[in-house]
Amino acid sequence: MAEADAPRLSLSGITRIYDGVPAVSDLTLDVGRGEIVCLLGPSGCGKSTTLRIAAGVEHQTSGSVAVDGHVVSDARRHAPPEARSVGLMFQDFALFPHLTARDNVAFGLRGGRDKGKTADEYLRRVGLKGYGDKFPHQLSGGEQQRVALARALAPKPKVMLMDEPFSGLDERLRDEVRDEALSILKEEGAGVLLVTHDPDEAMRMSDRIALMRDSRIVQIGAPYHLYNKPVDRAAAAFFSDLNVIHGVVNSRQTDTPFGLFLTPGLVDEADVEIIVRPQHLKIDLDAGVPPPASARTGAPARGVVERARFMGNESLIEVRMDHDASILRATVPEAFLPEKGTPLWLSLRRDRCFVFPCARQSKVETPWAAE
Ligand code: ADP
Ligand code: MG
Repeated sequence: MAEADAPRLSLSGITRIYDGVPAVSDLTLDVGRGEIVCLLGPSGCGKSTTLRIAAGVEHQTSGSVAVDGHVVSDARRHAPPEARSVGLMFQDFALFPHLTARDNVAFGLRGGRDKGKTADEYLRRVGLKGYGDKFPHQLSGGEQQRVALARALAPKPKVMLMDEPFSGLDERLRDEVRDEALSILKEEGAGVLLVTHDPDEAMRMSDRIALMRDSRIVQIGAPYHLYNKPVDRAAAAFFSDLNVIHGVVNSRQTDTPFGLFLTPGLVDEADVEIIVRPQHLKIDLDAGVPPPASARTGAPARGVVERARFMGNESLIEVRMDHDASILRATVPEAFLPEKGTPLWLSLRRDRCFVFPCARQSKVETPWAAE
C-alpha cells in the first residue's frame, strides 16, 4: 500500500495476556488520516493496554502494529515509542518543573534555533500566547494541561494516543481544551486513538467508536450506528437508559401489548427482549378510546402515570402499565408533568426498537433491529 493511502495506525490481531488472562484479545483496528477513533468501554476492558501497545510502552503477546503502513512491532521487531512518530497524552501528564512552558514544549523537538519559535507557535495554538516564559508552578491546572498538549502536538506526530487526557479538568475547560486539541490534530492529518469510559465524550468527539468489553471490540462504527444499531442489549445500554419488554416467540413472531414483532431467526418459545430507549416511546393522553395503531408506532398500550419529573432539556415520565404493572420510562423534549394516576397510552417507535434473544437462554449471536 502506498504510504499516503495507508491508515495512520493499524492494529492487527493484537492479543496481550497477563498471567494467563487476556487483557486484549485479537483486536484489529485502523485509524485513518485525520480520523478520531474512540476506544469506549467499562473499566478493565483493555482500553489502556491497547493504547500502550500502540505506543510501544507495552509489548503485545501476538499481533502487529503499523504506522503509515510500516510495521513498527510484530513477533520479530519492536520499535521504541520515540521511533514510532506517535504522540502520547495521558491523564497524569507531567511537565518538567524546572523548565519554562516554552522549554517544556521544545524539549522533544529537533532543529536547533527554531525550536523556541515552534514551541511559541504551539503555545499560541492552544491558547497560551505569551506564556512561554512561565514555569509550571505559575500556571493553573488547565494551563499546565494545555502546555502538555502543545508539547504532544509540536513534533507533529502521525498518530496521537490519548488516554482519558481531559478527565482531570472541570467540565467547561475540558470541552474547550478537547475541542481545540482535536481540531488541531484533524487539521494536521494525524490519526487519533482516544480512550474514554464516557459515552457522551465518545459520541461528541469520535468519527468512529470501538466499543470494548472483556478485552474485545464488540462493535465498531460511527456514533449514529452504535446508538441506533447496537449489537446487543449491553451495547445499547452503554448509551442510555433502556426499557425492556419481554415476549415469547410463536410462529416466527412475538406478540406484545405493543403489537407483533417479526422474529424470524428464533425458534418457538424462545424468550426475547424488545429494547427501546425512553425518547422513542410516544405518549398519548387517554381520551377514552385508544389512539389509532399505525405502522410507525404499532399498537398503543395503556398505563397510568407513576411519576413525572422535569429534567431541564426534557421531562421523564414513569408509567405503570395496565397489562403487567411494569414501569416504562418515556422522555419528551418539553415540560410535560401529568399528575400521578393520569391515564395515558404508550406506543413504540418501531424503527427504534431492538429485538434480541434473551442472553441467558440463547447463543444466537446475530440479532437484528426490528424494521
Ligand atoms: P482499561 O483501561 O479498559 O480500564 P486496562 O487495559 O488498564 O483496562 O486493563 C485491562 C486488564 O488487564 C485489567 O484486568 C487489568 O487488571 C489487567 N492489566 C493491565 N495491566 C496489567 C499489568 N501490567 N499486569 C497485570 N495485569 C494487567
Ligand atoms: Mg484505562
